[in-house]
Amino acid sequence: MKTLIELVAEIVSAHASNTTMTTDQIVNELQIIHAALKNLENAPVENEITESAVEPSKESTITVRQAFRKDEVICMVCHKGGFKTLKKHLSTAHQLTPGQYRKQFGIKSSQKLAAKNFSEARRKAAEERGMTDILAKAREKRMSNLTSRKSAAAKPVKPATSTRTVKGPGRPKKVTK
Ligand SMILES: [Zn+2]
Repeated sequence: MKTLIELVAEIVSAHASNTTMTTDQIVNELQIIHAALKNLENAPVENEITESAVEPSKESTITVRQAFRKDEVICMVCHKGGFKTLKKHLSTAHQLTPGQYRKQFGIKSSQKLAAKNFSEARRKAAEERGMTDILAKAREKRMSNLTSRKSAAAKPVKPATSTRTVKGPGRPKKVTK
């Protein structure tokens, strides 16, 4: 099969051999034909995508219990699955707020619009984040305590060493003098 560029070149050169064309005209025609062929080439692919995207909604309706699974949420509007959370999908794909969605499908407000594992993981992460915050603060406090203790301890250390040098055998001269 010929590439798109090869096809375009063939078409335009065939055209150019029959009529006198300026370089600008040839370039222009190349672009137009290239765009047109590209559209033709892309057209069947687009159809395939819309077909497969539409397909899930052909399934029979699912219950709320089926829609909220452990590791994914299924959209009850289009039956698309694999969501961790629905909020974004609802607004972008169906222009629905979580409240409208709950109303439409009778979902209790206690039911989070997210996969069970996801909300649990998020809660855990939040808890862990809280814990690390607490730990970080504790560590900070301990560090500042340590440094203040060090500086406080540093002061009595100096006189201790100086008294030791005075009393110690290092300075017998001073004693004898
Ligand atoms: Zn949907």
